[in-house]
Amino acid sequence: MAIRVLVTGGAGYIGSHACKALARAGFEPIVFDNLSTGWKAAVKWGPLVQGDLMDRATIDAALAEYRPAAVMHFAALSLVGESMQDPGRYWRVNVGGALNLLEACAAAGVRNFVFSSTCATYGDQDGVLLTEETPQRPINAYGGSKLAIEQMLQDFGKSGGISHVIFRYFNVAGADPEGEAGEQHLPETHLIPLMLDAVAGKRPALTVFGTDYPTADGTCVRDYVHVSDLADAHVLGLKRLLDGKGNAVFCLGTGRGFSVREVIDASRAVTNREVPVVIGGRRAGDAAALVSSTTKAIEELGWEPQRSTLRQMIGDAWAWAQKPGYDA
Ligand code: UDP
Repeated sequence: MAIRVLVTGGAGYIGSHACKALARAGFEPIVFDNLSTGWKAAVKWGPLVQGDLMDRATIDAALAEYRPAAVMHFAALSLVGESMQDPGRYWRVNVGGALNLLEACAAAGVRNFVFSSTCATYGDQDGVLLTEETPQRPINAYGGSKLAIEQMLQDFGKSGGISHVIFRYFNVAGADPEGEAGEQHLPETHLIPLMLDAVAGKRPALTVFGTDYPTADGTCVRDYVHVSDLADAHVLGLKRLLDGKGNAVFCLGTGRGFSVREVIDASRAVTNREVPVVIGGRRAGDAAALVSSTTKAIEELGWEPQRSTLRQMIGDAWAWAQKPGYDA
């Protein structure tokens, strides 16, 4: 029988790609999702438990029924701007949900935990290449809530015997190259899908959030990583835990940053169409530049990003944008 993995947020963008990667590697993903931002139609590689992490009894029941060997925890509120407007909700849902999940894992004897953290835990660090050792100083509630969960994992490692792999994602983009999964948020807030919507005429224009940052062209710099490469890293992280190699933290980015203007230029090259652009003000909570070091994930985890060029990510997102998308 395949080893089971409970995937919280498995109906969402990154979680669904992780489920596909897990299934391909011979695991059985059990999706636990409240479908607040995820899609039933994105659950294709294993069963769905529709439940909320704020409800401990539902988590206990899912762990008792499926007896997973590990948990991958994707489910979270994840929008920087929104987290600045409603910080309490981010702390309650993200930290409260993770706490319920960890306590349920400790009680059920689930000893392996893969956690989606973020480069937003670093805050604004003057454009230095960020490594696993860089001090974390979040500047928004989203990053703050994720850092709190990282700290919680350290404590549960000591007392609850739960080993963890923490992945700090940089900017995840693209879609499944075979078109089986992709990005669909309501409302959409992310750069690449919004830009492609503007290209396709589904919205009037892309607003560039700030052109006065201390970067080469004044727009924010981010390190974009393909969602399928990210999913592959999760399978490697899971295997590392199951091999008993213990706790670890890995940054998942490419080591190369691109400005908002560079992303727009790359889109033009992929789609052969202009991006209608409006220049706007800064978005609260945005750091000027966030770029990852890749050394540790490549050397210690054996991660080999295959599709994380801007051209490939925008190309795969563009192909996904031509498809009908998930039904509610
Ligand atoms: N961005 C933008 N216009 C948009 C959405 C995003 O200029 O409509 C910028 C944003 O300020 C950031 C980058 O694009 O510098 C990536 O933002 P996104 O929301 O995709 O990801 P985040 O960095 O918040 O995780």
